[in-house]
Amino acid sequence: MAITAPLVWLDGALVPSADATVPLMGHAPQRGSLVFDVGSFHETKSGPALFRVREHVARFLRSASIVGLSFGYDEAALVRAAIDVVAACERSEGLVRWSAFFAADEPDLIPRSADARVAVAALFYRDPPRTSPLRIAVFDDARKASIEVLSPEAKAGAAYLGPMIARRRATLAGADDVVLLDREGNVAEAPIANVFIVSGGVLRTPPLGAILPGITRDAVLAIAQSEGIAAREEPISPEAFAAADEAFLTATSMPIGPIASVNDRALAAAPGPITSKITARLLAAQRGEDPTRAAWVLPIEPVRS
Ligand code: PMP
Repeated sequence: MAITAPLVWLDGALVPSADATVPLMGHAPQRGSLVFDVGSFHETKSGPALFRVREHVARFLRSASIVGLSFGYDEAALVRAAIDVVAACERSEGLVRWSAFFAADEPDLIPRSADARVAVAALFYRDPPRTSPLRIAVFDDARKASIEVLSPEAKAGAAYLGPMIARRRATLAGADDVVLLDREGNVAEAPIANVFIVSGGVLRTPPLGAILPGITRDAVLAIAQSEGIAAREEPISPEAFAAADEAFLTATSMPIGPIASVNDRALAAAPGPITSKITARLLAAQRGEDPTRAAWVLPIEPVRS
């Protein structure tokens, strides 16, 4: 089954997805400079609705600015593009992926022109593709690129190469995913997800700095606060991770992945009670069932004919 919707928004128009391509000799495939962001849309009682779309677009614009891609679409235009692809895809749930890449068909290290093309597509997949609790591997030598190499805020293709190799190593070792460490050897994040643990009733997650500021991470922290769950953003050692009562990953494409084990050490519960409570509140917010979170949800208007 195709995971991309038949119509993709490319530089202002909906085109068949087969026509939304990057030049082979361009910078995106040859140097990994394509930047992207992934949002989601969900079924609500007033039809499909985008979740925290403005935050995703703002992060996309930040990634483009770090890499030096320039294009003429502002936040409003990129939100509008997402509405258009979701309205055209005739599905009530899925992901929205914004991509920007150097337009020129040349691989020079510094592109001669910063002009970029922008594509917005609706996609349908889960990553990692499973629903049961995750078996996580941690390796002392599988780490995030340090912030001096590349800002963790840049969602650029090249940033995912090391994490991809680390995840493959984890899957070859029988795990579902890997959690990378930061320069100090503390827990940083999974290749495409943030990490939370619960120990002694307290929710903990690594502080911003060496990790992507996940929008699901932010939603989980906001939910914890309103549910009266104590939460701390502080370093987590690999030992504390493996000894946690509960742990989970967060990412738009999951959105919460309970963790069953860390390096073959089973956690007490997956999902545990706090993970389950937060998951229920997050899914309710995505479905537009939490009036206190109405600002997170943007309904797709019916297509005008
Ligand atoms: N970390 C990385 C490196 C990611 O690629 C992602 C996915 N965007 C996340 C964390 C989770 O972010 P979000 O909750 O915004 O999807």
